[in-house]
Amino acid sequence: MNSIKAICCIGAGYVGGPTCSVIALKCPEIKVTVVDLSKPRIDSWNSDKLPIFEPGLDDIVKQCRGRNLFFSNDIDSAIREADLIFICVNTPTKTFGLGKGRAPDLKYIEAAARHIAVVAADQGEKIVVEKSTVPVRAAESITRIFDANGNRGKFQVLSNPEFLAEGTAIKDLMDPDRVLIGGEQTREGYKAVEALSSVYEHWIPKENIIKTNTWSSELSKLLAANAFLAQRISSINAMSAICEATGADVSEVASAIGRDTRIGSNFLRASALNLPEVANYWYQVVAMNEDQRRRFANRIVHCLFNTVTDKKIALFGFAFKKNTGDTRESASIYICKYLMDEGARITVYDPKVEKDQIHLELTHPSISEDPERVDRLITIVTDPYKAVESAHALVICTEWDEFKTYDYKRIYDSMLKPAFALMVE
Ligand code: ADP
Repeated sequence: MNSIKAICCIGAGYVGGPTCSVIALKCPEIKVTVVDLSKPRIDSWNSDKLPIFEPGLDDIVKQCRGRNLFFSNDIDSAIREADLIFICVNTPTKTFGLGKGRAPDLKYIEAAARHIAVVAADQGEKIVVEKSTVPVRAAESITRIFDANGNRGKFQVLSNPEFLAEGTAIKDLMDPDRVLIGGEQTREGYKAVEALSSVYEHWIPKENIIKTNTWSSELSKLLAANAFLAQRISSINAMSAICEATGADVSEVASAIGRDTRIGSNFLRASALNLPEVANYWYQVVAMNEDQRRRFANRIVHCLFNTVTDKKIALFGFAFKKNTGDTRESASIYICKYLMDEGARITVYDPKVEKDQIHLELTHPSISEDPERVDRLITIVTDPYKAVESAHALVICTEWDEFKTYDYKRIYDSMLKPAFALMVE
């Protein structure tokens, strides 16, 4: 297989949508079809209101949609037509069973692979690319699924991890630090790597495309994007605990060292590789993060004379960072959880996150076992000034730029006195 003519992307989420929009923009001769099981999600990609918010994404979709970029629920046709298939399905953290709370759940990837195996069984060669964050050797599992379903040697499975950061996805895709492609060290493997590389070479200099073996690629993603970032955050958090105790200014310390809000937990699979000391090390990194959120919630309680029961707290920002509507692992979820545990009434405002999404996060069994309590304690509003009316405290959880432009005199005047304002570090 030499040049790629049609790409199918399974999963129209935060990774698949922006990635394929940029590929369609940069490769006008390639037909790119993004498919998803969810009808509302595809309908939304085909409407004026895209399901995800990323600066620059709207313009690209408008330019390419209907030309060489398509969003569809007809998964089978897109798989058949494609010579290259991206798997961009979600890999949530397992909520039950072995590895609960830390290991990634690969059921969606496995389902997607099985689907490809069946649909493309009577077809020629295809390249299948894992883009989701996966544990090392996931490509091997995908290959085994193909082999066991009568497709031995027909599919080349590549690892091409995504390094985009939400909020700057388009910028990151247009001008990435590097593109990483891992493949099998065989003639067919090299050919497949070259084919995928030729797609990126439409706009990325060849020297920025790194070609490795499959496992190096998978491991680089876990280490670079998750473990090392998480470690950096935990280091800052550890710093802030020291700052709190000593009176040093954590923002000065933080800006000196730099910070990043991305975090994942897939690297905790170190224990599954029989490296318990390594696993313990990373557990501590994550524990540090959780501790940070709890300490922040405690600070709010402490400020409000050690009780928040029945007090109104306005919370600005529910997205995990600015310029995205994504709420996964957002600090605000945990802050709401701790404050709900204390019986506080919380009024949430976020410029981009939909009401249903906030509700969904807060009623997750790991956050609140009692959905009625969420209904009782949480109010979601669309006007920030409404959120702060008669509030005891304002808590800013996301650094949205628009928060800087508000009339804080008006906000202060409408709050109960003494009025407190706190910002998540
Ligand atoms: P990510 O951040 O990794 O892109 P998202 O949750 O935003 O994750 O998106 C993943 C998408 O993949 C969801 O829209 C989901 O409906 C879709 N999906 C999951 N499994 C399949 C599948 N087997 N076939 C098609 N789409 C799938």
